[in-house]
Amino acid sequence: MMELAKQKIIDGKAQNLSYIASRMQHQQDEIILAAHRLSLNLQQTLNIEALITAFCAESVSLIPCASVAYRNDSLKLFIYHGDKEQHLCRYSLEIEKEKLGEIECTSARPFTEQELMRLEHLLSVLVFPLRNALMYNLAVQSAKQDPLTRLFNRAAFNEMAESEVSRATRQCTGLCMLVLDIDHFKSINDNYGHLMGDEVLKEIATRLKLSLRTEDHVFRYGGEEFVILLSATDLPSARLTAERIRMMVEQKPIKKLGVSLNISTSIGVTEWQRGESSSSLFQRADQALYAAKTGGRNQVKVA
Ligand code: GH3
Ligand code: MG
Ligand code: MG
Repeated sequence: MMELAKQKIIDGKAQNLSYIASRMQHQQDEIILAAHRLSLNLQQTLNIEALITAFCAESVSLIPCASVAYRNDSLKLFIYHGDKEQHLCRYSLEIEKEKLGEIECTSARPFTEQELMRLEHLLSVLVFPLRNALMYNLAVQSAKQDPLTRLFNRAAFNEMAESEVSRATRQCTGLCMLVLDIDHFKSINDNYGHLMGDEVLKEIATRLKLSLRTEDHVFRYGGEEFVILLSATDLPSARLTAERIRMMVEQKPIKKLGVSLNISTSIGVTEWQRGESSSSLFQRADQALYAAKTGGRNQVKVA
């Protein structure tokens, strides 16, 4: 008795399915079984890609889908399985007006009414787990984002610096780090107020993002200090990038809240040495920044 109960728990999924399967002979039962299997699979993950893959596997088993695609523009997500064919059906997924993205399925021949019904049945199983996964993803994202500048924050930096070091180690590519600090930032707050200080921070963040490649990462490390990771980059190129950033900030006054301000930055640059940790890399870049400050500010120093 005890043994059986134990086995039921461990093997719950398989037992349930075989029990249901044994009672399902008719075609209609097939969809119930698929929906049940899908529901069990969807409960096991909060990874959006895994959810769509599970949905795709069940759809393809029930309906002659050649391709299944999920698109979520606001999250810039596009997950695709199979090869697109000419006949398609598309569904907007929503829960109480909350948009969850679109699913598009294609087939070499038109979908029948029955196939569409089956697909809709599976979609109704997908929507709630998908909403949960989207909410979870959003929470994870915002934990890594600085709310003022929308840049990655220090927690994200710690994580990504480590993964960039691992990547540079694996792929034997260069990696450089820039640490940038706004000069005399406190006097902006003191003379024009905190709101103006915030505007300056946002503007600098925008300029940094615009001046970097998509594969580079920029973080707000703290107060008015930013860190930039340049992957697959050597020291001379990193120095040039730092100089370009310094000039880009200096040459164009920041015009916000009816005030025009000339701002400058000091930047420390360094290159990752094979075998070194991300924290040691940061320390050296920070020392270079300190040298740039003591050297008179508005300059780039390489360590
Ligand atoms: P230095 O040239 O040596 O870098 O001088 P500094 O004035 O830029 O540096 P300091 O560290 O003395 O001042 C940094 C100031 O940044 C102090 C702090 O109040 C301000 N600060 C930190 N975070 C924020 C923020 O989110 N918004 C605003 N407006 N100010 C901030
Ligand atoms: Mg400063
Ligand atoms: Mg500072």
